[in-house]
Amino acid sequence: MDKRSLYDGLNEFEEDLQKLSQNLMEMKGSLQELVEKNATLELENQRLRERIHELSQQDAKLPEREKQELSRSRLNLEKIYEEGFHVCYDLYGARREHDEPCAFCLEVIYRDSSNK
Ligand SMILES: [Zn+2]
Repeated sequence: MDKRSLYDGLNEFEEDLQKLSQNLMEMKGSLQELVEKNATLELENQRLRERIHELSQQDAKLPEREKQELSRSRLNLEKIYEEGFHVCYDLYGARREHDEPCAFCLEVIYRDSSNK
């Protein structure tokens, strides 16, 4: 190997290293974003679970005369559902993939609403 091609070879190697280093930085950035997003989703999930738990507790305890409060908690459940989350007991707080409808959620939101 003559000096010229050794020099060119090192230059190429240096460029490759720079590209790799750039890729590494980008991947680290993406990972950081994913970690942050995951933490946010976990918190959101937790918050929704607590909220739904609260709402279903309320719902269970409510006497007839607090009909208005009941319909308010239904509206809340409905809102959470419409925002794309399950409110049914098995999956509550989980995201509804592609906004798939869930009969159990609808049951939770609308059960007995016509005869109360
Ligand atoms: Zn559901």
